[in-house]
Amino acid sequence: MQDSQSSQQLSQAIAIASPLPRKSRQARVVWRNNVVTVGGDAPVRVQSMTNTDTVDAVETAIQVRQLAQAGSEMVRITVNTPEAAAAVPYIREQLDRMGEYVPLVGDFHYNGHRLLTDYPDCAQALSKYRINPGNVGKGDKKDKQFGQMIEIAARYDKAVRIGVNWGSLDQEIMAELMDQNSKRAQPWETRQVMYEALITSAITSAELAKSMGLNPDNIILSCKVSGVQDLISVYRELARRCDYALHLGLTEAGMGTKGTVASTAALSVLLQEGIGDTIRVSLTPQPGEARTQEVVVASEILQALGLRVFVPSVTACPGCGRTTSTTFQELAKKIDDFLRGEMPVWRTQFPGVEAMKVAVMGCIVNGPGESKHADIGISLPGNGEAPAAPVFIDGEKALTLRGEHIAEEFQTLVLEYVQRRYGQKA
Ligand code: SF4
Repeated sequence: MQDSQSSQQLSQAIAIASPLPRKSRQARVVWRNNVVTVGGDAPVRVQSMTNTDTVDAVETAIQVRQLAQAGSEMVRITVNTPEAAAAVPYIREQLDRMGEYVPLVGDFHYNGHRLLTDYPDCAQALSKYRINPGNVGKGDKKDKQFGQMIEIAARYDKAVRIGVNWGSLDQEIMAELMDQNSKRAQPWETRQVMYEALITSAITSAELAKSMGLNPDNIILSCKVSGVQDLISVYRELARRCDYALHLGLTEAGMGTKGTVASTAALSVLLQEGIGDTIRVSLTPQPGEARTQEVVVASEILQALGLRVFVPSVTACPGCGRTTSTTFQELAKKIDDFLRGEMPVWRTQFPGVEAMKVAVMGCIVNGPGESKHADIGISLPGNGEAPAAPVFIDGEKALTLRGEHIAEEFQTLVLEYVQRRYGQKA
């Protein structure tokens, strides 16, 4: 390296990457004294959706609670039939009885205007309505039926998400824009017309809702598509054209690794640009997988970007030929499960514990170093190393564990650390 180059490079500190800010309105999604702000200076929210039959009020209330306890700050439920609308107040009642005041969001398509009108208890038990302008009605019925829902939202002071989805895009808007496009000297690609149709549908619906008396602060917009680059293109433009709070998510993301990776890729790019005020990860659960997985992934995305802190993080090495035993994998999994399992109680008992860092490492190469950087860490023995596992607390070697019960003993040490550092007396 040239001397002049190196002095020039060292004269300026390397910029620290962080998500950009975006100024948006702030919506309030409220149930009793639980006010979930979305947009403005609020943290990016995590939300989710049930997959139970809403008519089964008990099953639905149980799943809503599971999602809320996993960290979902709002939970959406399908309201598709009169029976489902009739069940909503009972779901709310069950949750209230359990002391679970997570706001419920009603997902309406086709008949929302009728259900909200015919079931006022449902309209009041919900804290937010999701309206899809693509299927609210056709022709002259469209504005009338949309208006009916907006009027009810305004009457009960409820937030509304105008949720456009490319799978149910307003065909009248799309046809009109395609028509305009055909007259261009250089027509846009069809997907660019689709982007325009999604954004036009969302923004014109929001303006209409505003003109009908809905508080604009209480409007949240979304334009969901299932392609990563499509989502990035649409939301960049949506964010540029309006100041409404934005609900962000890749629709029909898919199963397992594919859904997780696609959602993470799309959401991370946009969140880093300051776009997105509440997120949902639409994962298709694998057979037997808990519905709460989508909440875990959404929270992990925000935590990885440094936007929120939800659960203590476990730093674990990937393992390699220096540690062929599965001991450290099992220990890392046990500790991770233990921390997540305890969080619903710890959140209130031990404020600040969510920022704790735990390290579980496989051998002496990076083990002690990484463990010293954590609040509490353990470095397990790799192949050929002495069968001892030094534990580091607050950067200092505190003790060494040996024998068959290292996992249990380390778990106890973590619990004691939490009580000591984050307990009331502390
Ligand atoms: S800490 Fe050790 S076991 Fe883990 S990846 Fe590094 S060298 Fe391999």
